[in-house]
Amino acid sequence: MTIDDAPREALRGGPRELLRWVATGAAVSRADLSRLSGLSPSTVSQRVEALINQGLLEETGAGRSRGGRRPRQLAVPTGGAVVGAIDLGAHHARVGTLDLSGRVVQARTLPVRIEEGPEQVLGSLLAEVAALAASPGDPTSAGPVSSASTADGDPGALRGLGIGIPGPVQHATGRIVSPSRMPGWNGFDVAAFCAGRVDVPIIVDNDANLMALGAHRTAHSELDHAVYIKAGTGIGSGVISSGRLHRGAQGSAGDISHCRVVADPAPLCSCGNAGCLEAVASGAALVTALREQGVTVSDLTGVIRLIDDGDRHATALARQAGRAIGEILAVVVNFFNPQVVAIGGRLADCEPLLASMRATLYERCLPLATQTLLIERVAASQDVGITGAAHLVIDHVVAAN
Ligand SMILES: [Zn+2]
Repeated sequence: MTIDDAPREALRGGPRELLRWVATGAAVSRADLSRLSGLSPSTVSQRVEALINQGLLEETGAGRSRGGRRPRQLAVPTGGAVVGAIDLGAHHARVGTLDLSGRVVQARTLPVRIEEGPEQVLGSLLAEVAALAASPGDPTSAGPVSSASTADGDPGALRGLGIGIPGPVQHATGRIVSPSRMPGWNGFDVAAFCAGRVDVPIIVDNDANLMALGAHRTAHSELDHAVYIKAGTGIGSGVISSGRLHRGAQGSAGDISHCRVVADPAPLCSCGNAGCLEAVASGAALVTALREQGVTVSDLTGVIRLIDDGDRHATALARQAGRAIGEILAVVVNFFNPQVVAIGGRLADCEPLLASMRATLYERCLPLATQTLLIERVAASQDVGITGAAHLVIDHVVAAN
């Protein structure tokens, strides 16, 4: 299905904004919403009533009076598993249920074999989401192969499902287009497949976009311009422009994986070109490069362990990866002038990579671009993707009503 963005007027004082102010605690009453939005009390009341009727807001009792009738307090209903989310990675998937404020109710991590193809992988992940939605928030339900975070709650019916894919997603159709390392997924219509199995709105997006949205809403919602790098097995980025996720014409905005970097020798990339960022600086590239140097390493976890242990080969490669990411990011920062650049994904914990990336950024950027630029790690990165997926769905549900 096609998911359109909400109209621009919805940004200031629109239902989504009102809901967000209440969800973040910035507003607890209609009067607060009126003050924050600049809208008249009657317009705010109308919009609040509509949100209450949709089950997206609730009244929680009387607040403090400043003389006269005590105002009724507003809250986003919490505790119900109302939104489903899947953040698919190359080897693992994080699945969860989240409430309407974007808070995780239940989540678990599952091993995934992406090469088994979309029907098999998505079929089993959809079953997991359904199981989470049907069970109360119980930390022991996560099972031995997963890690879980839970909150108390009585799951309600799913209002929608957001899915992140580690490859390019055509935004208008939800189709995957020429992904690296995802054999059998090219052209697959994820939204149509899932819609045939779950009768709720389905929103599909690239995993870096979901990370960007989740991180922006939870850590930087007051900033208008932000770039988030996702560096795990693959590498990508998501862009927030004027407070909104910027997808570009087709949905490929921010996909830096095949930008060329200086590397000698330039390793061959899965796309057929040599010297792509993904072939130099991704987790998969580090595993390959170490093996070529005769180091025995099985996966990215092994690489990170070697770096933590001070292995010189692994550390040198991590520095090279950090410089490569910094080179591309410098172009992005010069071009786009964000307020914050944050790096997430498993390589974000790799100190030598981060130090080189930061140094290269300062070296290659205009002073005006870096004067007040924040360079950070994405916080709580395990759940940031499903949080972004949930916010996409919540925005859609609010905009559709
Ligand atoms: Zn490439």
